[in-house]
Amino acid sequence: MKFTDRVNRISVSPTMAVLMEAEKLKARGVDVVDFGPGEPDFPTPEHIKQAAIRALAENRTKYTATAGIAPLREAICRWHTAQFATKYSPAQCVVTSGGKHAIYEAVGALIDTGDEVVIPAPYWVSFPDIVKLAGGTPVFVPTEASDGFRLRAAQIEAALTPRTRMVIVNSPCNPTGAVVPNDEFAKIAALCNARGVWLMSDECYSHFLYDGVKPFSIASRPEAGEKTIIIGSLSKTFAMTGWRVGYALAPEPLIANIVKQQSQSTSNVTSIAQYAAVAALDGPMESVATMLAEYSRRRARIYAGLNDLPGVACTEPKGAFYAFPSVAARGGSGLADTTAVAKALLEREHVAVVPGEAFGAPGFLRFSYATSMERIDEGLRRLAHFFSAAASAS
Ligand code: PLP
Repeated sequence: MKFTDRVNRISVSPTMAVLMEAEKLKARGVDVVDFGPGEPDFPTPEHIKQAAIRALAENRTKYTATAGIAPLREAICRWHTAQFATKYSPAQCVVTSGGKHAIYEAVGALIDTGDEVVIPAPYWVSFPDIVKLAGGTPVFVPTEASDGFRLRAAQIEAALTPRTRMVIVNSPCNPTGAVVPNDEFAKIAALCNARGVWLMSDECYSHFLYDGVKPFSIASRPEAGEKTIIIGSLSKTFAMTGWRVGYALAPEPLIANIVKQQSQSTSNVTSIAQYAAVAALDGPMESVATMLAEYSRRRARIYAGLNDLPGVACTEPKGAFYAFPSVAARGGSGLADTTAVAKALLEREHVAVVPGEAFGAPGFLRFSYATSMERIDEGLRRLAHFFSAAASAS
């Protein structure tokens, strides 16, 4: 069968591929310690679920406005203002099927064939493929583990060319957990503004910050120019990955062009999920604090545990819920790359992780610590067995 060049340019999300392999083992009854999932292991809070049940009972089950129901667009703007001191109005807001689709549609509206999009690496798996699907060229800016994966405006500046149309920043970062310091972020915004380049800020992990650091949006800073796109999601903050609710905040003409694409594709986000999202944004935020406190404890455990393993070195994640260690020991175990390490870990120890190649970072593995402390400890025991064997073989 023949498929388009467009679709042949991209591949199935590698994180999904690992999850599928782990699922197959689990279905056979194997006890897998799963560090794969990029989603909270907490249930959606009760008041949000109740709002969905109410929406059903009230027959709110029909098409909605393509851009999202007015109460939700208002709630998103209100919430964003309360959390980050920004000033968006509903006309600058569109509700999308998760943050991923907001990225897809914003890129679809702005990136033409040959346009360059600057993406810091390691990067979230979908950024380059979404750019490629639109015909654009991803330009990677490497950040280093030895430097805590810090991103600097000077690096972005060095990557800009006359063809650069957009810069994507994801802070806190999936997969490294790195956080761009607010003032450095402001420098990146000023740079984009001065060069007339779009700045897309992916805030999906905005509320997963450790050591008392407060949530931040670049949109609150005067350095952020008109060409700023905020991508938000209820997936992680409110443990709502399956509901598929995200949003974009951007200048009105861009929002209109995102809405135009939605009108010819998804039409609207599920009506029931939209009503639940209003309850999430207008409701109490205690569940977020509860999750964060638990993730903070797990972060300490996994960070220490990984660094205790022979040939494994992990920088301390400052946000999100991922640890991203380098695994030099793979040579000793006779494995060519971290894709082979991840495969061997799953086969031999029944531990699921995502290989660094997926994020443009060969030599690293991504561990999601959105799993219980007991499973983290069990996983660390199995990893100690695996890496000790590799160390003694080398
Ligand atoms: N951005 C980043 C960095 C992510 O890690 C994810 C999900 O893993 C998303 C966006 C998309 O999330 P959703 O589409 O569920 O809102």
